[in-house]
Amino acid sequence: MSSKIFAAALIFLTLTTLSCKPAENFSAQENKLKVVASIFPLYDFARAVGGEKVAVSMLLPAGTDAHNYELKPDEIVKVINTDVFLFINFEMEHWAHKIITAAEKTNMLAVETGKGTILLPLTASEPHDSPINHEQQTSRFDPHIWLDFTNAQKIIDNITEGFINKDPENSDYYKNNAREYKSRLIALDKKYRKGLAKCQSTTILHAGHWAFAYLAKRYKLKYIAAYSTSAEAEPLPENIFTMVEQTKKMKTPYVFYEDFIAPRLAKTIAEETGAELLKLNNGHDISKNDIKKGVTFLNLMEENLLNLQKGLSCPQP
Ligand SMILES: [Zn+2]
Repeated sequence: MSSKIFAAALIFLTLTTLSCKPAENFSAQENKLKVVASIFPLYDFARAVGGEKVAVSMLLPAGTDAHNYELKPDEIVKVINTDVFLFINFEMEHWAHKIITAAEKTNMLAVETGKGTILLPLTASEPHDSPINHEQQTSRFDPHIWLDFTNAQKIIDNITEGFINKDPENSDYYKNNAREYKSRLIALDKKYRKGLAKCQSTTILHAGHWAFAYLAKRYKLKYIAAYSTSAEAEPLPENIFTMVEQTKKMKTPYVFYEDFIAPRLAKTIAEETGAELLKLNNGHDISKNDIKKGVTFLNLMEENLLNLQKGLSCPQP
């Protein structure tokens, strides 16, 4: 290299380095994988797996009814311009196909994170539904799959696969984060198993909607809810009757409630029976205040366990 060319190259390099400085910061931000997660558990899982390599936003605003959400056209546009869209399944987000269709000619990857999870049919306790038939697309199952912590691990795997698909360079980073988070889910599962093993009461009497069947099944508990999975449905009179009767029989009666669905019904049952109300969070009902406080899925599940142990009179391990 002649000295003239070398000098020119040096000047060029210096100039580009100088001019790239602010651009580098900008591109570091720009290089993050843009992820939209439909509901809170996915939003929180995506943050855990993606860490600093992703920019995650939650599609459904805090404080909305996740089961009866009406997707707005501008939200579709927003989602298809991102890299990854995470949803649970078509039972939870019945509108997900609208995004998938609109994204056909884009680079957005849709990840059905509930793929490969164990599904529970909506049973006789949740009337008007028939058991799952895998042959039929129209078969209905309980969408709250994240409340089984083995399913939650499968969801983490699917999210990780999606991120790696779009950003293979950071594959190890995502895999490590996923491994770390799954170990926390395993620990949580153990804590639940131990904490709910020897309770005096074995029935969760829930004045909210049908959301905790996965959790109840996993820890060998019975579950009665006042509402079906559809939050807009009428309360189920026979379930409320059973709940009131069972609550009255309990020595120290407790009824579980949720913030979003019919806290009034829970209050009425409490007044009728003298029961104390205990909160359970299903993961998808998140308030603006929760988001502001920076709650995590694991926090919510820890709080649920404490309330379950109190409500079911379980010995403290
Ligand atoms: Zn729900």
